[in-house]
Amino acid sequence: MIIMKKSATEENIKSVIGEIKKHGLRADVSKGEFRTVIGLVGDESKVSFAQLAVMPGVKEARMVEIPYKLISREYSELFVDKDESRTVQVGNIRIGGNEPVFIAGPCAVESKKQLFRIAEEVKAAGAHILRGGIFKPRSSVHSFQGLGSRGEDEAREALGWMQQAGRKYEMPIMTEVRGELQADLIAEYSDILQIGSRNMYDQDLLGTVGRISKPVLLKRHFGASVEELLSFSEYIVAEGNKDVILCERGIVPVGKGNNYTRYTLDLAAVPVIQRESYLPVIVDPSHAAGRRDLIFDMSCAAIAAGASGLVVEAHYNPAEAMVDAQQMITPGELKELIDTCKKIHKMVTPHRKKVKVS
Ligand code: PEP
Ligand code: MN
Repeated sequence: MIIMKKSATEENIKSVIGEIKKHGLRADVSKGEFRTVIGLVGDESKVSFAQLAVMPGVKEARMVEIPYKLISREYSELFVDKDESRTVQVGNIRIGGNEPVFIAGPCAVESKKQLFRIAEEVKAAGAHILRGGIFKPRSSVHSFQGLGSRGEDEAREALGWMQQAGRKYEMPIMTEVRGELQADLIAEYSDILQIGSRNMYDQDLLGTVGRISKPVLLKRHFGASVEELLSFSEYIVAEGNKDVILCERGIVPVGKGNNYTRYTLDLAAVPVIQRESYLPVIVDPSHAAGRRDLIFDMSCAAIAAGASGLVVEAHYNPAEAMVDAQQMITPGELKELIDTCKKIHKMVTPHRKKVKVS
């Protein structure tokens, strides 16, 4: 990491970047109000920090050994005003700002009629962003894979419905990109590119969405540590896309007997991530719990733990949903959940410890 002097000129910055590139590394340039910080992307052992430190305009040059330095709070606090946290702007919605953001919709988009009715009802319940899967990750090849799997025309049609529903009900939209080949197509329509938990480790896919200038929601793999989630999010940021939202969605349960939930929601991950990184973190109680009777409780707990928002699966008639029917809640239940979570957020926020680098 290279910290430039306040007096550093554009020429000085350019020379430092040139020196970094000469050794086969890339430079992440962050310009703050008061100074510029240059992060090194690649193998730092190839450059001489002693040499960089004496270049004109350089205040300090040091090696950073954590695997996720570009998203670390320490790095961002060098150029962002300490009281400010980074937020991700999607249309009129700010994720990571002062208000919690609620993303809701069906697990899978099944028809135009289904989607529009759900969009209308989740909007009325207070949702800010519409979700809906078009390329679905499924455990069985014999089950419904999402309308996108039927071909490009069908994928475009379903993506078009999402876009129209989003415009009609004034909500940005989010849908999952399951592979590199789908990325450009989905980016034509979707405001947020969702990387599902199963693909958290797919470096090539992360690099691909990192090169697209759309916000990315990265879901934690159900077997991943928090450190891995942070390290893999760095693959997106290293390509220049810092609009990344992290999502805790439950990890594999422990023990031999029944835990009575689909996964185990790791809520400590929320404040832990906030201490490590400036990226906003939200929670998906639906896929974590896997049962609708727990969604309200888990949502309240997630907001109390400091989550910047929630992703919740909702349907006007959960029983008829083709995917994840057991965990869908109704728009009426969603409204109560959102209203309560807003109250919890208001109550807890002033008392939360201000996150500081130790
Ligand atoms: C989803 O949100 O549609 C989904 C499949 O979730 P996850 O990737 O967390 O399993
Ligand atoms: Mn689902």
